[in-house]
Amino acid sequence: MNFNSFIIHYAEVALKRGNRPFFEKTLVKNIKQATQGCGPIEIDRRWGRILMMVTEKTDIEGVIAALKTVFGIAYFAPGRIVDQDIDRISEAALESIEGQSFSSFKIQTRRANKAFPMDSVQINIHVGNQVWDRTKAKVDLTNPEFTVHIEIFDDVALVYGKRYEGQGGLPVGVSSRAVLLLSSGIDSPVAGFRMMKRGVRLFFVHFHSAPYTSTASKKNAEKLVEILTRYQFNSTLYTVPFLEIQQHITSVVPGPYRVIMYRRAMLALAEKIARKNRCDALVTGENVGQVASQTLPNIQAISDPISLPIFRPLCSFDKKEIIAEARVIGTFETSIEPYEDCCTLFVPENPETKAKLHIVHEYEAKLELEKYMQQALEGAETINFKFENRNQ
Ligand code: ATP
Ligand code: MG
Repeated sequence: MNFNSFIIHYAEVALKRGNRPFFEKTLVKNIKQATQGCGPIEIDRRWGRILMMVTEKTDIEGVIAALKTVFGIAYFAPGRIVDQDIDRISEAALESIEGQSFSSFKIQTRRANKAFPMDSVQINIHVGNQVWDRTKAKVDLTNPEFTVHIEIFDDVALVYGKRYEGQGGLPVGVSSRAVLLLSSGIDSPVAGFRMMKRGVRLFFVHFHSAPYTSTASKKNAEKLVEILTRYQFNSTLYTVPFLEIQQHITSVVPGPYRVIMYRRAMLALAEKIARKNRCDALVTGENVGQVASQTLPNIQAISDPISLPIFRPLCSFDKKEIIAEARVIGTFETSIEPYEDCCTLFVPENPETKAKLHIVHEYEAKLELEKYMQQALEGAETINFKFENRNQ
């Protein structure tokens, strides 16, 4: 088909009545960013949907790939806008089935312009006859293999065939901002993806123990942010040196409580970065019971000094489910590249699984965490990422 347009249907956006203009504006902005580099595109908000006009110079495959990464889209379809003339509509319908093979079909017409001389049923029958003439496929109104959609708007008509699934969710940016604690493991990128899908814009924080460990975890974190930036178009990653804090904790705190104290320091540092960037929450890839440090008492022990809400979107996932999602997002391969995690350093064999808050507070009183955290923040590096459309 000689496409000249895309029709884009919102996911939940349509439900949020009061905020709707803001949701729509954000979605349009995100679509523009995602399709940058795909050639000429004009976007219009119309009829509670988004209509995108394209030309023969537009990279149609590139637009399809880009729209698949935009949260807030339920589904979309490339199609053809034609004059409100039944012959033009029929021609476009025949074009829309080119290259498609199906043994049953239906025509689905929606008519907004009641002044159009034929009603929906008459249009369905008229166009359906032509498709039948061409294909001899049977008409099936309940479970067709292929549907040709016709929309009669006030001024023009739109015809499209194949529809593509969108990501669903909400446009990134409509649900404020949060800091994701990004290790270079499998879980935290998936947790971040889940939050972005709810419209949250992420800032990324990665803690590393260089030069004690190699810079592999830092490089991995950078690669992961690059992949996730595809969904929010630009990102900032803070890489924070954590070695001195770990050494300080190790020198004061006995083995079983060390991991808890590291985690408290990580969350406290992430909270400082969150406040600086006007973020309203922290996000981690933690999962109940997956490892010894993630028991419910320990989760309480690491969270208690933090006043921002901490989201753990994977807390109820099975590892298998997380891995499956990491593969779909495209972070799995990077997450399993070998690296030395700062948390595997100085980790005792017998981590406490039922941390007591009063013991945690006793250790913390002996530490000079504020001073070390200040130094860590001063040593942090900031890296900015911008999504470039690779289809170019
Ligand atoms: P992941 O696969 O995300 O590493 P995990 O199941 O290995 O998670 P942990 O290593 O215990 O679990 O980490 C729990 C969470 O703490 C991570 O999901 C991440 O949010 C945060 N975290 C751990 N290490 C780091 C790090 N080096 N930098 C930033 N955040 C970290
Ligand atoms: Mg990990």
